[in-house]
Amino acid sequence: DSQDYDKEVASVCPFCGVGCQVSLKVKDNKVVYVEGINGPANEGRLCVKGRFGFDYIHHDHRLTKPLIRRADAPAKGLNVDPNNWQEVFREATWDEALDFAAKGLKGRGREVAGFGSAKCTNEEAYLFQKFIRQGFGHNNVDHCTRLCHASSVAALLENVGSGAVTATFNEIENADVAIVIGANPIENHPVAATYFKQFAKRGGKLIVMDPRGQALKRHATHMLQFRPGADVSMLNAIMHVIVEEELYDRQYIEAYTENWEAEKAHLADFAPEKMADICGIDAETLRAVARDFARGKAGMIFWGMGVSQHIHGTDNSRCLISLALMTGHVGRPGAGLHPLRGQNNVQGASDAGLIPMFLPDYQSVMDDGVRSAFTEVWGSEDFSNQKGLTVTEIMDAVHEGYIKAMYILGENPAMSDPDVEHARDALAKLDHLVVQDIFLTETANYADVILPASAFAEKSGTVTNTNRQVQMGRPAVTPPGEAREDWAITTELARRCGMEWGYDSPADVFAEMKLNMRSLENITWDRLARENAVTYPSLSPEDPGQPIVFGDGFPRPQGRARFTPASVIAPDDVPDADYPMILTTGRQLEHWHTGSMTRRSAVLDAVEPEANCSLHPSTLRKLGVEPGGHVRLTTKRGSVVVMARADRAVAPDMVFLPFAYVEAAANILTNPALDPYGKIPEFKFSAVRVEAA
Ligand code: SF4
Repeated sequence: DSQDYDKEVASVCPFCGVGCQVSLKVKDNKVVYVEGINGPANEGRLCVKGRFGFDYIHHDHRLTKPLIRRADAPAKGLNVDPNNWQEVFREATWDEALDFAAKGLKGRGREVAGFGSAKCTNEEAYLFQKFIRQGFGHNNVDHCTRLCHASSVAALLENVGSGAVTATFNEIENADVAIVIGANPIENHPVAATYFKQFAKRGGKLIVMDPRGQALKRHATHMLQFRPGADVSMLNAIMHVIVEEELYDRQYIEAYTENWEAEKAHLADFAPEKMADICGIDAETLRAVARDFARGKAGMIFWGMGVSQHIHGTDNSRCLISLALMTGHVGRPGAGLHPLRGQNNVQGASDAGLIPMFLPDYQSVMDDGVRSAFTEVWGSEDFSNQKGLTVTEIMDAVHEGYIKAMYILGENPAMSDPDVEHARDALAKLDHLVVQDIFLTETANYADVILPASAFAEKSGTVTNTNRQVQMGRPAVTPPGEAREDWAITTELARRCGMEWGYDSPADVFAEMKLNMRSLENITWDRLARENAVTYPSLSPEDPGQPIVFGDGFPRPQGRARFTPASVIAPDDVPDADYPMILTTGRQLEHWHTGSMTRRSAVLDAVEPEANCSLHPSTLRKLGVEPGGHVRLTTKRGSVVVMARADRAVAPDMVFLPFAYVEAAANILTNPALDPYGKIPEFKFSAVRVEAA
């Protein structure tokens, strides 16, 4: 009813990478409800988070004034009550807080590192990486992509030449076969999942592969609940069948790929009969899946953190890329590779250069010509040609004493890092920590100065979803109290650190980004303001963008994609007598990441108010714990107590633990061992002991 609101503003859901467009209904400077609108990814649909998860914007925990740690505050730690922070922090003016923040950073070169966030807009992410590179002369800047799809991107860049998806998820409408592996889209990409379900209802062959059962199973032609960590064995076995039965696309391989003979030879060792026990899937099923996928006219592969968050995450993705290439399932309608992005702007923040190896558009920091193209635009000196440190390496460098000051925007490493006590100890060791956020997050607990920032509904900026769709976010309400837009805060801080930045708006920043980002060709701020979304690449000012890329070759030498054979590497932390079960972590439908937003959303928190884990009913019986009772989970890193749910989707030797709950932080338990290529930690596999609490 139009009486219910004063105005409506089109924007983009701030949660997952699907990037649903929303209409924010505003009354008296408050968002009162939200409806889906006809964006290219969602066509009017929303999930429970998009529809009901907006009231955190107006929560009374919002930061409204800059805060500075009191000289007599207790030692740094998770000891700040968001309702009673006055013992630890005092209010400050913006001038005092910005001067204080800048004083602790300016001139400290390599002692400073920065974490931006996939919650940032493209413009904020671009400014943040520029702040570190221009202001401090190095590349120690990263964000949560390192914890998410870094290994997928490493494999895609290596073998396809581009880290983004080759086809939008909506292209499943044109497919007749699709694999969903290591992803639980009904919970984590719910609107994308509606397209997957429709595909299956139309008769498409849906192949779901996951160590944990899931609701998509109901729609699947094949459900492969394989042993955790056995991805490479299983995928190589499937590809072995494709080679053995000559189901591959010889013409495609000859025209568009390289290193096929090496891949073929490597796969000879992976007969399904040999791999069946290792991956827990019988040989006949592996053969049937190989035939169904290879014989499909158009096939897509979707994957998530279940693939990427392993020490062999890059190898897992290499296998998926090889599978798509050998079957010719790339570059056509209904065919392609699609790592489902987890956060609203993890694609855009990565595109904007918020990573230690790459400047915007994945241009190498090691390339002199690339750096000089940027420093020319920035009007500044050259900076380091060495790749910077990644998220977890930065925390190690704090412990080693190399990094002493940090600027953290929107990221919450005190919850999100693996072996999180190690990260918390590092944050406590810093002699200067600047945190810019909307809440007093767990990370802000460790800050020396806190800069109150803006929620998505309070600012302008573009974001890029999992489909490569650049979309316009618009302000619907004003920030609370003295909170400011993030681009303006970073700009002020840069000026006080000696950088001559003259931006007046995010549109100015976007115009600068376009100077060195070919991906934004034909995409302008005005166009986005008019059209809401444009997919990159866009071939002309009228082209809405290309949903499918690489139909005529790849951005690699000779235009050829590459087969990179993958060998089996065991998980790092294997079960033993003391830690006999396997822990895997993830999100659940109602909560998003570290919970700072969704746990402050009344509806979502009412549905899922308590830290929980899922165990097979037979495991609960053995433990003597009733569903709803509590268990203690212990790994080599630490221990938490959580409520236990009975869930047949979890194998008897596994436990699934969501990571949104500070009172039982999953990352106290997780293993920081890294994939050597993507530098992503092995969140998805830790040896664990489960006991009645
Ligand atoms: Fe938001 Fe993702 Fe849900 Fe869409 S599917 S409404 S983007 S959380």
